[in-house]
Amino acid sequence: MKVFVAGGAGYIGSHTVYELIRAGHEVVVYDNLSTGRLGAVHPKARFYEGDILDKGRIIEVLNCERATGAVDVAMHFAAKLIVPESVSQPLEYYHNNVEGLRQMLVALVETEVKNIVFSSTAAVYGDSERGECFEDDLTLPINPYGETKLADERMLKWAGEAYGLNSCIFRYFNVAGADATLEIGLDKDQLTHLIPLIMQATLGLREKLSIFGNDYPTPDGTCIRDYIHVTDLAKAHVLGAEYLYQQQESLLVNLGSGKGYSVKEVVDVASQLFDFAYEYAPRRAGDPAKLTANITRAREQLAWQPILGLKDMLQSDHDYRQKLLEVSR
Ligand code: UDP
Repeated sequence: MKVFVAGGAGYIGSHTVYELIRAGHEVVVYDNLSTGRLGAVHPKARFYEGDILDKGRIIEVLNCERATGAVDVAMHFAAKLIVPESVSQPLEYYHNNVEGLRQMLVALVETEVKNIVFSSTAAVYGDSERGECFEDDLTLPINPYGETKLADERMLKWAGEAYGLNSCIFRYFNVAGADATLEIGLDKDQLTHLIPLIMQATLGLREKLSIFGNDYPTPDGTCIRDYIHVTDLAKAHVLGAEYLYQQQESLLVNLGSGKGYSVKEVVDVASQLFDFAYEYAPRRAGDPAKLTANITRAREQLAWQPILGLKDMLQSDHDYRQKLLEVSR
């Protein structure tokens, strides 16, 4: 397959490009390099600089690629994804995430690309009552980030019906880790997320980690989340693209490990690997007690299976960051 990857220089996009190339596919990366980095683009991928909001440029690239064979599947990773930022800049988020997808879909329809793999999020579920999320659950986002991704999901549904565009929508849970080669990893710290903050503490960049709340209705009182290794997640995208290409029908699936870890359990596993200090602090606003993925659909429809565990995520994330620090010294 020839795969067009918008946002292929970013964290999840670059890992997916690596897995697509390992699986023998031809890859075209499209990225404006605002948060991604050129060095993260696999050397075997063809790179084009461009913005997701620029449908003219996307059309130009897709037409240019047609000379060597049309694109079979497009992927979209070029989105803004920081929840607190989405709360302070909702209009930016609607512009980038909703208008951005619309521009890309116009380009795909015009160039007759029929398949798209799309990154959505567990944030579309909002405060899940049950804690374990199923794809058919009610979607009630509680922040603009989740709202924009839900709007995107709806846009894909209607565009699918109108233009015969097949979509594979992935709702990600908490993604962490780095490629085993340590060539790529998370470059821009999202310093609201637990694992990057633990890493800062382990590398001496922060005095200690704060655990936000130990009075939640969970066994140890700290919040439970579902952590998935970026390499497992990336491999699911390869299967999703192959599914669209072969089946020509749409799919919506959760991507998590299917296991819940409390914040304290993550801290305990990290403490077995590294030295760092932590303390308990008050709850953070807006955190549901438990959010985990039911991944039956991904297992059944894509024959996908998460392989790497929390230790792999923490160790590879740590090693990649250490490497970055050494390079910058
Ligand atoms: N968390 C924490 N300390 C931190 C950062 C996060 O205790 O410094 C907790 C947070 O309250 C939540 C869990 O870790 O219960 C996962 O948070 P994260 O921001 O990584 O992901 P979210 O699930 O909120 O998207």
